[in-house]
Amino acid sequence: MTMITNHLPTAELQALDAAHHMHPFTAGNALGAKGARVITRAQGVFLTDSEGNEIIDGMAGLWCVNIGYGRQEMAEVAARQVKELSYYNTFFQTTHVPAIALAAKIAELAPGDLNHVFYACSGSEANDTNIRMVRQYWALKGKPEKHILISRRNGYHGSTMGGGSLGGMKPMHEQGGLPIPGIVHIGQPHWYAEGGDMTPEDFGLLRARELEAKIKELGPETVAAFIGEPIQGAGGVIVPPSTYWPEIQRICDEYGILLIADEVITGFGRTGNWFGSQTFGIRPHIVTIAKGLSSGYAPIGGSIVCDEVAEVIGRDEFNHGYTYSGHPLSAALALENLRILSEEKVVDHVRDVAHPHLAAKWAQLADHPMVGEARLVGLMGSIALSPDKTRRAAFAAEEGTVGLITRERCFANNLVMRHVGDRMIIAPPLVITPAEIDLLIERAWVSLDEAAAKVR
Ligand code: PLP
Repeated sequence: MTMITNHLPTAELQALDAAHHMHPFTAGNALGAKGARVITRAQGVFLTDSEGNEIIDGMAGLWCVNIGYGRQEMAEVAARQVKELSYYNTFFQTTHVPAIALAAKIAELAPGDLNHVFYACSGSEANDTNIRMVRQYWALKGKPEKHILISRRNGYHGSTMGGGSLGGMKPMHEQGGLPIPGIVHIGQPHWYAEGGDMTPEDFGLLRARELEAKIKELGPETVAAFIGEPIQGAGGVIVPPSTYWPEIQRICDEYGILLIADEVITGFGRTGNWFGSQTFGIRPHIVTIAKGLSSGYAPIGGSIVCDEVAEVIGRDEFNHGYTYSGHPLSAALALENLRILSEEKVVDHVRDVAHPHLAAKWAQLADHPMVGEARLVGLMGSIALSPDKTRRAAFAAEEGTVGLITRERCFANNLVMRHVGDRMIIAPPLVITPAEIDLLIERAWVSLDEAAAKVR
């Protein structure tokens, strides 16, 4: 068989890919007709593909490459760690230095009394852990009937049976028997699409109070926890109205419900604070982390757990864990990533470039004839495409997915921007410079113009 390397022609790589590689969230049979794009290398905020194009990665991979691609220090840490301790587990009363050091560092960065870390290998796994942990918490407190988790429609919490069930993604629930029992969904705080004539503030309260109504309907004695993303990411970068999180917090406090903030995207600087919970004033009992924890240099996720929950869970053996929980290579890379984020003051940089530089330019996108709203928090932004911005109207389905057309124009203009229906979203590496932001915005404008010309 031929050696498969970057040097093979793109068409050959694509054919082999279509023949043997099953892709996530992709209609595999379509790949043969239109091959996958082949990314061959990356540096800073730029990707290079097999055709030699230099593409600005406006999505930091899948919202994860916070420190940018190709950092030499990360390569050195990886090599050193593999030579020193390539693997050991953390089951059965054993531990190792990378797992200890990383947990201590996360506890130092996390707000309040979130002082304990349970490791997983991804955000999905961490949310599976959370389901089991909150149920075990209440069981150990003598309330095993408190087992239901409440989450939101159009929320995203991963792709495992547990994570996919917590998520409120209809296309996922239509396949494979999701959601599993004991998970219940309420409405999302998506004012632009669902708020009608209400003010954002009133709508935020209305949607938060759906949680209260659901708890009353189910009986507070049956509800274990509420989980939500501070800003819905995969749902379309939906920034909740300012009234939403304070009301959710009040309800969780009042009814004795654990609050889980899924910060897989918003953690580690994305919103201009270390955690999105700080940006929105949320006081969670558990925080889900992954992605920016290692900037995607190695798979790692986890749950940051408050003192009270950790103490109760610690009373008995928690029969849960993963072979690679706290994997030394992933932990060492995560630790180095956190060192870079801290020492290079990347979280401050997010605030500095987001406001006013990106914020002003992002807001200008709302002047484009095809854009209904432009939202930005830190380095996480969305624009809603609309045929009539005065009514916040959506494109008719028969016009095709205008978002998809726009995404394809972006790619043709060497910019990765993702679409969720007719919302275009960005979450670039946090180290993006003002000049790179200007280039991103320039390419976004051209792409919007080209998409608008195609739609008309
Ligand atoms: N939670 C949130 C908020 C996410 O955005 C994601 C992934 O996008 C996940 C969980 C799942 O993480 P993973 O893909 O690492 O399993």
